[in-house]
Amino acid sequence: MAKQDLYELLGVAKGASLDDVKKAYRKLAMQHHPDKNPGDKAAETRFKDITQAYDVLKDEQKRAAYDRYGHAAFEHGSGGGGGFGFGGFADIFDEMFGDIMGGGARRGGGRGAARGQDLRYNMEITVEEAFHGKKAKITVPSSVSCDSCKGSGGKDGSAPKACPTCRGAGKVRSQQGFFTVERTCPMCQGAGQVISDPCPTCRGQGRTRKDKSLEVTIPPGVEEGTRIRLASEGEAGLAGAPPGDLYIFLALQPHRMFQRDGANLYMRMPVAMTTAALGGEVEVPSIDGSRVKVSIPKGCQHGHRFRLKGKGMTVLRSTARGDFFLEAAIEVPINLTDKQKKLLQDFEKDSDRKTYSPETQGFFDRVKEFLDELAK
Ligand SMILES: [Zn+2]
Ligand SMILES: [Zn+2]
Repeated sequence: MAKQDLYELLGVAKGASLDDVKKAYRKLAMQHHPDKNPGDKAAETRFKDITQAYDVLKDEQKRAAYDRYGHAAFEHGSGGGGGFGFGGFADIFDEMFGDIMGGGARRGGGRGAARGQDLRYNMEITVEEAFHGKKAKITVPSSVSCDSCKGSGGKDGSAPKACPTCRGAGKVRSQQGFFTVERTCPMCQGAGQVISDPCPTCRGQGRTRKDKSLEVTIPPGVEEGTRIRLASEGEAGLAGAPPGDLYIFLALQPHRMFQRDGANLYMRMPVAMTTAALGGEVEVPSIDGSRVKVSIPKGCQHGHRFRLKGKGMTVLRSTARGDFFLEAAIEVPINLTDKQKKLLQDFEKDSDRKTYSPETQGFFDRVKEFLDELAK
């Protein structure tokens, strides 16, 4: 049988744009759709032909191949992709009319539906653990492939049979007015297979519930919200289908000393008023467990920031480390004895504020200027 030219089939010119091809197909598909022409074999064939033509002409690569080699381009070994199986038809149809058909025509049924569920495991770790990394043992409630039937779901490992309802397709079609609606087969839940002689241990499920113990390596430098994927450690699939994945979601416990922001760490460092005035040294802990001496210059002001380079957090998949920032919190003395009060009063009387508190003096000077202006 001679094959008709694909452009002629859709009634478009050879150089037609993708838009024109789409428009032409949509119009013809509406006209020749089998649901609109019940029992009309010619319409059905015509519909298949235009759908096939559209499948080629909407795809830049297939179209180029067709322009060059004609139908010969698709004659050998194109398999599912270029061929015209039922699946290919459904895909194109969904693509064109999915908006009209609404949720009823969702793709993704078929065998994929039986894949095991992904599991989520929430883990809280300390900032130190995030710094060093750790190995954690976790117990995951899960289902595993059934030992008795090796996951097949059939007694003594007997193989499942094609589902009689959907004849193995995993989907059933029904007619809703003009359109054909496709849904997951209710008999086999999309697996396309049923078990005639179910395994007694798992009642044909191919999997049994079991707590699973896993050792998880948390690498150094993980952050709040980091997700670790353990491939195939999720729930076992139905009847021998592949298992899902396990995702570990990490959350960081708040630390009582360190605040973390990415690779950097922050800490509020209280400094006694006298140390801040006279200069001195403060010792602080570092996240790596060591102690760091910070020298406080004399006249250190409240809020002064010290940066300790490379003393911050570890960085995921890197040997680098962030920085450690310390913010001086100058503590004004409280609970003074009479003697201390006297010393401070003497200090204030004796001294020239312009020299020892330039900012305060400057402020008072500006206030005075401001009030004088108002009084004018
Ligand atoms: Zn079993
Ligand atoms: Zn079925």
